[in-house]
Amino acid sequence: MQKGTIGVTTENIFPIIKKFLYSDHEIFLRELISNAVDATNKLKTMSSVGDYKGELGDLTIRVSVDKKKKTIKVSDRGIGMTAEELDKYLNQIAFSSANDFLEKYKDQANSLIGHFGLGFYSSFMVSDKVEVITKSWQDNAPAVKWTCDGSPEFTIEEIEKESRGTDVILYIDKDSKEFLEEDRIEQLLKKYCRFLPVEIAFGKEKEWKDGKYVETGKDKIINNTKPAWTLKPSELKDEDYLKFYRELYPAGDEPLFNIHLNVDYPFKLTGILYFPRIKSNIEIQKNKIQLYCNQVFVTDSVEGIVPEFLTLLHGVLDSPDIPLNVSRSYLQSDSNVKKISAHITKKVADRLHEIFKNNREEFEKKWDNLKLFIEYGMITEEKFYEKASKFALFKNTDGKYFTFEEYEKLIKENQTDKNKTLVYLYSTNKTDQYAYIEKAKARGYDVLLLDGQLDIHLINYLETKFKDSRFVRVDADVIDKLIQKADLKEPKLTKDQMDDLRSVFNIKGKDKEMFHVMFETLDENEAPVIITQSEFMRRMKDMSQIGGGLNFYGEMPDSYNLVVNPNHPLIQKVNDELQSAAGEKLAENSKERNKLREEIEFMEKEQSKKKSEEISQFEKDDLEKLRNQLEDIEKARRELLESFGAGNNLVKQLIDLALLANNMLKGEDLSVFVKRSINLL
Ligand code: ADP
Repeated sequence: MQKGTIGVTTENIFPIIKKFLYSDHEIFLRELISNAVDATNKLKTMSSVGDYKGELGDLTIRVSVDKKKKTIKVSDRGIGMTAEELDKYLNQIAFSSANDFLEKYKDQANSLIGHFGLGFYSSFMVSDKVEVITKSWQDNAPAVKWTCDGSPEFTIEEIEKESRGTDVILYIDKDSKEFLEEDRIEQLLKKYCRFLPVEIAFGKEKEWKDGKYVETGKDKIINNTKPAWTLKPSELKDEDYLKFYRELYPAGDEPLFNIHLNVDYPFKLTGILYFPRIKSNIEIQKNKIQLYCNQVFVTDSVEGIVPEFLTLLHGVLDSPDIPLNVSRSYLQSDSNVKKISAHITKKVADRLHEIFKNNREEFEKKWDNLKLFIEYGMITEEKFYEKASKFALFKNTDGKYFTFEEYEKLIKENQTDKNKTLVYLYSTNKTDQYAYIEKAKARGYDVLLLDGQLDIHLINYLETKFKDSRFVRVDADVIDKLIQKADLKEPKLTKDQMDDLRSVFNIKGKDKEMFHVMFETLDENEAPVIITQSEFMRRMKDMSQIGGGLNFYGEMPDSYNLVVNPNHPLIQKVNDELQSAAGEKLAENSKERNKLREEIEFMEKEQSKKKSEEISQFEKDDLEKLRNQLEDIEKARRELLESFGAGNNLVKQLIDLALLANNMLKGEDLSVFVKRSINLL
C-alpha cells in the first residue's frame, strides 16, 4: 500500500471546498458523471481507431445510492486508470487544478461553482470520504483503490476488480443526507444528465403488477443519448422537432418555428431554438433556453451570452466554446461569446426572413404571436433591425398586413402633409377610438393598429429610422390637422366671440382629466366639438406605464383638448343663445371693458415716454387701480359666460357628445346625458 500527501501546497483545501462552496453542492454529481462519460468516450475513440482491441461490452454508466451505508456510487466502464495514472490525475493534476480554481475564485466561488472548474474534487463538498476503485483498459494493469478521507492524506492500494472501468464511491457526510434520497438523485440526473451521450442507469424500471409497482429487471435509463440538436437537420422532420420541444417543455404551447444551429468554425455551436407564442408580458417568458456544454447541462439563464431579446426564445444551445467558469460581466466582453451572439442573431433573422419569403401567408398568420419578439429585437439590436425591417409587418385596423416598404407606398400619396412629412396614423384601441378611425378612413387614410406591449417604443424608434415621418394616433387632433394639407379656413366667428365661447365651453369639475378649450376652424360638416389628446403627452404617459424612467409623466394628470369648431351651425347657435340670454349684460361689460382697456392703453403709452424715475407714485397707483378694475370686469365676464355654459343644455349636450365619441362619458355623467337627451327630444 502506498501512502502520501496530496498535491504540492501545504494548505488543506478540503475545508475550503466545504466552507466556500456551500451553495450548489449538487454539481458534484454532474462532475463525476461527466468524468465517467469522458472516460467512456475515450475508450470508444480508442476502439474506433484500433488502439483498443478488446470488447467494449456494455458501456452503461450506473449510479446507485445505498442509504444504509450512506454511499453514492458512480460506475463506468471506460478507460479506467492505472496506479500511476491515478496518482498523476487525482493526486497531482486534479488536485492542483481544483486548488488553483479555489485560489482564484475563493471570493466569488458561490456564483461560479455552478459552472465547470472544480471537477472530481467537488465530491468532497458532500463526502467525508471518497474511494476510487479503478481498473485500466490495459491488459495487465492491476486494479487499484484510492481512498481519501478529507484530509490531505490518501492511500492507494491494489485490489481485486473484475471489469474495466472506474467506481467512485462517496461516503456522504451528515450535512448532505439529502443526497441519499433516490428522488433527489433522480432529480439531479434529470437536470444535468438528461442529454448526455452515454446511457446512464439509475435503478430499475418499475411496472404495475397485481395492484402495485414492482421493479422489473430492466435498467432505468434516465437520459436521451441522441437529443435532436446533435443530429443533422436533414435527419429530422417537423414532428421530431416538435417531439423534442415537448421533451424540453412538457407543458408548453406548440412553438411557431424552430431554428437548428450548427456551426463548426470559428467556434463550435449547436442547438435548436424555438419561437414560442408570445402573447403579452415579455418578462415571464424569459429564461427558457438551456445552455449545454458537450451535452452536459450548465444553466438555464443565458443572459450575457445571447442578446436580451433572444432570451425570449426557447430551446437548447450547446457550445464548448463558451467559457463558463467566469463571471457574467466577463462573458459579455469575451470575443467568442460576442461572435456566438452575433451569429445567433443573424441566424434568427435569416430564418424569419426565409419563412416570410417562402410562405408569407403562414408568416402573417403567426405574426401576432411573433411580433413582440421581433419588435423587442428591432428596438434593442441595430443589426437585427437592419434585417427585420425587411420582414416586420404592420397590421392595420382592417386586419391587413404590410411590410414597412409596402405600407409607405400605400400611404405616401394621401398621407403626406403640407410640410412633406409622411404621417402614419394609428389606433391603440379599435373600440375606444372607433369614431376617429372611421373619420380617418372616410378621408381615405389608412389606420394602423398598434396595440402591442412594445408598439409605442417601436414607433419612437421608427421615427428615428424613417425619413420625414411621424406617427400620430387618430385621436391626437381634429381630422383636418391630423394630416394638415392646407392652411385652415377662416372662422365664421370673430375673435371676441370665440374668446367668449371659450369660457362658455370651459367645463369644470372633471376629477383627474383636464380640458383645454381651443378653437379650430373646420368644415361645417365636421363635428361641432371634438376631444383630442396631444400625441406627445399621451405617448409619454403610455411609455411611463410600460416603464423606462418616465415616471414623471405618469404622475401628470391626463390632459385633453376640447376642440370647438366655430364654423359649425350649432356653435353659431350657441352664440345666438348666448346673445339672447346675456347679450345686454355682455354688451354692458364690453363697454366698460373697452373703456378701461383704452384708458390703460393710453396711460401706458404716456408712461412709456418717460423714464421710470420721472413717473410719479400717483400715476403708478392710478394705472395699477385701472388694471385691477379691468381684471374684475374680465372675471365677472368669465363667470357670466361659464354660468351660462353650465346652464345651457345645448352646450352640455355638445360636450357630452364629444366625450361619448371618445368613450369618456361614464357613470353618473352618462345617465345625466341620457336623461337630458330624452328631454330634448
Ligand atoms: P477534469 O475532468 O476537468 O480533467 P477532474 O478533476 O474531474 O478534472 O479529473 C481529473 C482527471 O482524472 C481527469 O482528467 C481524468 O484523467 C481522471 N479521471 C477522473 N475520473 C475518471 C474516470 N471515471 N475514469 C477515468 N479517468 C478519470
